[in-house]
Amino acid sequence: MMKKLPVLLTPYIKTRYPYRKLKICRRCNHFTVLGDAKCPACSHSALQSVEKRAASMLLRSMWKDWLIVLLIMLAGVAMSESTMHSVLCAAGGLLLLALLWTIQRRSKFALLHVQLEQLFKKEASTLCAGLVHDREEAIKVFETGDKPLAYEMLREIGALVHTDQLRIEQILLLQSFVLRKDMDLMLDPLLMDHFNPDLVEYIGELAKIRRDLLKENAFRYILLHEAQILKMEHGESILTGVAGAAVRMKRYITLYPHLMLRYACKLPKDRFLRLYRIIQSSPTANAGPLYEEVMNIYNEKYKWDEDFQRVSK
Ligand SMILES: [Zn+2]
Repeated sequence: MMKKLPVLLTPYIKTRYPYRKLKICRRCNHFTVLGDAKCPACSHSALQSVEKRAASMLLRSMWKDWLIVLLIMLAGVAMSESTMHSVLCAAGGLLLLALLWTIQRRSKFALLHVQLEQLFKKEASTLCAGLVHDREEAIKVFETGDKPLAYEMLREIGALVHTDQLRIEQILLLQSFVLRKDMDLMLDPLLMDHFNPDLVEYIGELAKIRRDLLKENAFRYILLHEAQILKMEHGESILTGVAGAAVRMKRYITLYPHLMLRYACKLPKDRFLRLYRIIQSSPTANAGPLYEEVMNIYNEKYKWDEDFQRVSK
């Protein structure tokens, strides 16, 4: 078995929109999610956020609109045949400018998003090339032996690139680390559609140290691939660990009763006690097969256990 490395991982900074991770170079238009200032392609300190780039594109298009209105106004004034006509043209032009400014100000956020979409559409191939370059940089770092940094780089790229290849690379790196509960770990972005034993092992690790990361998607994944997981060396203990994590919330017990039914008898005492408490406190659960199974296990193993007696009273 591969020896696991004790590592320190930098906390992951989440952004409301994944594109906020992206930077673009003012000089060569290279996109990257790695680095804050220096462009990895041209080495100039010319990186700026894509939002900043979109904002300057928006400002340029606003100036263009103002210029058109100004030109129309000036043409009107120049062609006026009387002073009254000129004043009316100038007043109309100024009114139009004020109206335009108000509309632009009120719809600035929506306009900014339109500019961002246009930027991504126009630069789609450059954007892809930038992200491919980022991944190559991460692989180079991996080859130098700095696995934690390589993982952190892949994690950043994973905010925008949702491929199984990238997920597997991250999982393999995570599986080479000694995972601790104080680490900034994640699961949902790493879930795949197909069965992957490394992902299952990783879920098994999380079920021991970070049960809170196991949510609906993880339970569905585990149930979907249960037969294959059971064929794995520690498959049954992983499934039991996952069932133990599902006991965390009453909702999960209601959503996945079959997971509970199949693995309740193998749960460690603290997890079974929690399941027992939830089942006991739920008035609707008193008749189902899960209730019967829980009561059978209770009668068989914990009937005289003091912790359980406290629950019953
Ligand atoms: Zn550059």
